[in-house]
Amino acid sequence: MNPLPSPADVRAAAERLRGHAHRTPVATSRRVDGETGACVFFKCENLQRMGAFKFRGAFTALSRLADAQRRAGVVAYSSGNHAQAVALAARILDMPATIVMPHDAPRSKVAATLGYGARVVGYDRVTEDRERIGAALAAEHGLTLVPPYDHPDVIAGQGTAALELFEDVDGLDALFVCLGGGGLLAGSALAAEAAAPTCRLFGVEPAAGDDGQRSFRSGEIVHIPTPDTIADGAQTQHLGTLTFPIIRRRVTDIHTVTDAELVDAMRVFASTLKMVVEPTGCLAFAALRRLAPEFAGQRVGVLVSGGNVDLDRYATLLAR
Ligand SMILES: *Cc1c(COP(=O)(O)O)cnc(C)c1O
Repeated sequence: MNPLPSPADVRAAAERLRGHAHRTPVATSRRVDGETGACVFFKCENLQRMGAFKFRGAFTALSRLADAQRRAGVVAYSSGNHAQAVALAARILDMPATIVMPHDAPRSKVAATLGYGARVVGYDRVTEDRERIGAALAAEHGLTLVPPYDHPDVIAGQGTAALELFEDVDGLDALFVCLGGGGLLAGSALAAEAAAPTCRLFGVEPAAGDDGQRSFRSGEIVHIPTPDTIADGAQTQHLGTLTFPIIRRRVTDIHTVTDAELVDAMRVFASTLKMVVEPTGCLAFAALRRLAPEFAGQRVGVLVSGGNVDLDRYATLLAR
């Protein structure tokens, strides 16, 4: 098994990403501060290259491959943003990429992945196992599998978003982070160990897929069927064997939010912050909005994880 990544690995990933990833802006809003009673800092990874933090982990992992692995190419399985991230990182680093995507993946995400020059292989999310398909392609063609969250370089790369936030905003009392398989949350935990030892960390996942909360509270990784939620980037079935111990070591708690709360948060992002945020990217803010009274007067970070959503779907969700 891979060793757990360390806080130093997050700093090393930040060096690798310099000049390739954007240092995304931190947004604030007096109106949000007024409504929540907290002092809120949004880390805008919806403005990251390819529209989500996933570029950080994918580029970090691909940039560390040996020459022979680079020539053979990489394979990844993803419902969207990890696919685009691996496709873009592979194009920048001049490697062939094959992406395994569900037939019902958002159209814009499939189009973007193809646009970055990757080959796309489809599968049925309900009846087929994407991990098995990815492993079979890897074995058959000598490709290196780049998992979406349970990989030391991916976790370290994802942690650079929180590291930048800790560098840009002093004295955060708490940080809310969206949670799927836990790459972003585990990376943020490592960044906090390095740069914000007193900041409390909270993971937020969809109520329909509360495996992370159950795992966190029970101490065993809980597996669930694919959850039914509009947060398509967090439809994971379980935390990873690397992400889970890091999360357990450093995270304070894991909260869940409903799809209706996600839409409410999406509306605030659009109307108040003038930002398009995909449903999964609204998880962290949705939880803070509900829990705001507990954080009155505190400095609170919110990791806005991505902005990739088909505009017709976005309009339909907001019109509900
Ligand atoms: C992948 C993704 C997540 C969840 O990240 P994990 O590392 O799997 O926990 C959250 N938000 C967006 C936009 C994503 O693409």
